[in-house]
Amino acid sequence: MKKEFAVIGLGRFGSSIIKELRELNVNVLAIDKDEAVINDYKDMVTEAVIGNTMDENVLKSVGITNFDHVIVAIGENLQASILTTLILKDLGVEKVTVKAQNDYHGRVLEKIGADAVIHPERDIGRLLAHRLVSAHTLDILEISDDHSIVEFKAIDDFTDKTLEQLDFRNEFGVSVLAIKRHEHIIVSPDANTKIIEDDILILIASDQDLSKFEIVMGDH
Ligand code: ATP
Repeated sequence: MKKEFAVIGLGRFGSSIIKELRELNVNVLAIDKDEAVINDYKDMVTEAVIGNTMDENVLKSVGITNFDHVIVAIGENLQASILTTLILKDLGVEKVTVKAQNDYHGRVLEKIGADAVIHPERDIGRLLAHRLVSAHTLDILEISDDHSIVEFKAIDDFTDKTLEQLDFRNEFGVSVLAIKRHEHIIVSPDANTKIIEDDILILIASDQDLSKFEIVMGDH
């Protein structure tokens, strides 16, 4: 059975989610308090409703508890984002994902029961900073406050060297979790694995060690 999604708030973020969900061919309910916004997107979704989700009755009237996953993409109005999340969890919606405006907002959302809190602006800012330091950094996934996983495109100097020769762990405190080679992935590569051109290394380390690695390798 298809999963049912509801997206609340169709700003830039919410509207890009509904566009992607449409591509994936899933049922989507969109809610926004602004009629003009709903008119812009109503043809892209299964159902579009004008309503203020700070009002519990609006959420009840659309049968919000029947949805597997609700995404709250209200950004600037913190009160609306927090209250909407609180009502959704009080009504018993199983999975609520909320876009946070900043760290404090994110912490409040976690405390009131949001199942997932996302920080798109912060994450993009982080990735951009890493890419400015090293054009070889392709993506970054924060796994704790001070550790991350990074996708790093191998530089020419790595070619034909084994992981033992490169010795990232001893030199930088950086471990190679996997190597993406064209269509396949080498998981937990051993010390004898040789890097070839166009390999993408999946690295894990503390943010401090990763920064050092990116700065040194960024010079190549
Ligand atoms: P983005 O960066 O994604 O454009 P934003 O951070 O600027 O978004 P807002 O503009 O505050 O976020 O909100 C996004 C959408 O949420 C707007 O279209 C707005 O009408 C809608 N919205 C705000 N408050 C409510 C509410 N209480 N109920 C329903 N929709 C709301």
